[in-house]
Amino acid sequence: MKLKLAIQKSGRLHDDSIKLLKECGIDINNGVNRLKTEASNFPLEVFFLRDDDIPQYVEDGVADLGIVGENVVMEKNKQVQVVEKLGFGKCRLSVAVPKAMDYSGVQDLHKLRIATTYPVIVDDFLKKNSITAEIHEISGSVEIAPGIGLADAICDLVSSGSTLFMNGLKEAEVILKSEAVLIANNGLNAAQQQILDKLLFRIKAVKKAKNNKYILLNAPNNNLQQIISLLPGMKSPTVLPLAEEGWSSVHSVLNENDFWDIIESLKAAGAQGILVVPIEKMII
Ligand code: ATP
Ligand code: MG
Repeated sequence: MKLKLAIQKSGRLHDDSIKLLKECGIDINNGVNRLKTEASNFPLEVFFLRDDDIPQYVEDGVADLGIVGENVVMEKNKQVQVVEKLGFGKCRLSVAVPKAMDYSGVQDLHKLRIATTYPVIVDDFLKKNSITAEIHEISGSVEIAPGIGLADAICDLVSSGSTLFMNGLKEAEVILKSEAVLIANNGLNAAQQQILDKLLFRIKAVKKAKNNKYILLNAPNNNLQQIISLLPGMKSPTVLPLAEEGWSSVHSVLNENDFWDIIESLKAAGAQGILVVPIEKMII
């Protein structure tokens, strides 16, 4: 029994999808121009497809799992389950209008022509906001549509906003924030579910490790308790005596989000020689 996983053949999600499998300790032979390949050390077969096709294949069970952007999952609206957010391929789906337009809110989209490759999501957004506008579905280079007089506004994926800027547009509304997700067929049997659970266990350990850092520091013993109280650790910090009298080495794990605040407090409490090290896997 093997699970079939569909990933993007080439494009923005391809490399990170392969990297995630590698970080999960899954060896796949990623030859170019191949349709599929098998993992040598995990019950997984990997299919390389266009991202647009992945939700359909997963719904049909041609693939059991897929890695795609949430934007594609929503646009295709297939019967699949989103099992895990993967933390890469982050972008937003936004409405953009010409820079010179005086935009003050969604109502300004009324009666405009909006060019997009995401007609389903845009239609849903307009309905929710009771706006009537004309959706022009096009298959690519959406950002040039206003410049050539094809549309008054666009809805497209944005990450830095530089493409919009270069085309004389500005972001007006964020419709959706998206990242890559793992999707699964709704009818996995027990054996398939077991393999998926095994894969998910690894993915979670990799994700957790990325959000955390291992920290080592030297603490004066007279302020040790205060320093320890700043460091949650997985259970509690490790404290080891230094060769120099009156000092200890403290080891712990810190969440990326609290990182800088805690580092500042640690310094203020007398911590010295603070080292911060990436963690490869983290199982709690
Ligand atoms: P395919 O040939 O597989 O159909 P594509 O051209 O549709 O590829 P890509 O441009 O490679 O797709 O983008 C794949 C996904 O990467 C998007 O659906 C989105 O989820 C994500 N992504 C992240 N940042 C961006 C961005 N700035 N622009 C476009 N997509 C982005
Ligand atoms: Mg595509």
